Amino acid sequence: MKKAFRRWIAAVLVFCLVAPTCVVAAAAADEKSSYTIVSPYEEVVWTGDKAWGAYKGNLHTHSFVSDAEVDYRDMIIEYYNQGFDFLAMTDHGVTGKAWNEKPTELPLYLYQRVIGHTVHYLTDEEYNAIQDGSYPVDGQARGRGMTCITGGNELNALTISKDHVNAIFLPEHAGDNYLGYENDYEGAVRLSQHYGAPCFINHPGDWLNSNDDRANCSDPVKISYFADILLRYDNCLGMEVFNEHNGTTGYDRDTWDNLLMACLPYGKRVIGFANGDTHYLRDVDSSYSVFMMEENTPENVRKTMASGAFFMVTRVIRKDTEKFGPEEDMDVRDSGLPYPTFSNIQVDGHKITVECSNADDIRWVANGSVIEKASVEESDAPAAYTIDLDTIDGAEDFLYVRCQIMGKGGITLTQAFVIDDGAEKPVYERDNSPSAVAVRGLRQFLSLRIFVLFKKLFSLLASAIKK
Ligand SMILES: [Zn+2]
Ligand SMILES: [Zn+2]
Repeated sequence: MKKAFRRWIAAVLVFCLVAPTCVVAAAAADEKSSYTIVSPYEEVVWTGDKAWGAYKGNLHTHSFVSDAEVDYRDMIIEYYNQGFDFLAMTDHGVTGKAWNEKPTELPLYLYQRVIGHTVHYLTDEEYNAIQDGSYPVDGQARGRGMTCITGGNELNALTISKDHVNAIFLPEHAGDNYLGYENDYEGAVRLSQHYGAPCFINHPGDWLNSNDDRANCSDPVKISYFADILLRYDNCLGMEVFNEHNGTTGYDRDTWDNLLMACLPYGKRVIGFANGDTHYLRDVDSSYSVFMMEENTPENVRKTMASGAFFMVTRVIRKDTEKFGPEEDMDVRDSGLPYPTFSNIQVDGHKITVECSNADDIRWVANGSVIEKASVEESDAPAAYTIDLDTIDGAEDFLYVRCQIMGKGGITLTQAFVIDDGAEKPVYERDNSPSAVAVRGLRQFLSLRIFVLFKKLFSLLASAIKK
């Protein structure tokens, strides 16, 4: 009897200890699954009389004004001829003006004049006609203007380490002749912030040397270096995910995923950009962005850069059989093939539905991994596809989900849809421990130009010997 009583008491005690834990665990599970999906396309009006337009644009363009192989005027007209809706000229260290104003000429690019490359700009008539769409293409008015985005400048114009940052909407002459310092993204971001200009990190793969070693995109030291800048500067919106023909940035989808994972816990979305980084006419149709806007104006371009209501497109990229595709090297520049297009995106609870066309492969990516992949029939008629996160294991632990569509005409990416569990995000604090400060000091010391130059010469020599 005594024994049975003891057993009963023990059972009651165990119940008292375990029950509250179960209740707490159930509540936690409930809380976890009660996340919401925050769409960057939430405000877009896709259908009806008030439907927003899809505007193709490029925010990274060069000319004879810096180191490109195309005259300033010819570059602008080529973008117009190829159907672009907005364009920012972003010559290295030269802040872009209205296209009917003489661009600033820097002594650094005197060599262009020496080799006979004269800079021409648009007349007032040409400028007005391009802006209002009356300028002809193949003898006929295009009917749709191309908006001039001023204040673009690729900062850190004279660095060997190619730590480039694109500022857009700088005031006139701000940033002119900013030659920069080696491995100093922050200086360029700080300058942009000082002038209230949004900016993004250009072609990080170049600096990471990730085409030679993909693992560099996931190097925690390098990722936290970029994240530290993105988290401390609001005006630094994100990074280029596609750049030009992706000669050095073939794996920057990895870099973007890693930066999203590093920054989202602090509530910072890392916006992805795609740009031609155009130095030759053949780059015009390489990478670009498609902005969803109520109206094609500079103010809306600025707003959309920050909201992320746009898509990234590339037409040229090396194969990636491991993760994101394509299965073969792709180069469909100037092919006339339509790029894969999103025409409607809706979030309903834990479901995201995308309507797209010209795609035969859809991949959903979360926390750096492909979580769902489907082959579909390519057609120019839009078709809808849904992902239901409730059917995916571990979805409550995702920080974000993003969608990629791929077709004969290229690859198009959405921005990240944020998985928001409703918890308050901690404020980012920079690691100022003695060891972190020492590491930063050492990095700065090793970034003295003389060391960077030796390192570059050494690597050139090493690759020449290897060949
Ligand atoms: Zn660059
Ligand atoms: Zn560039």
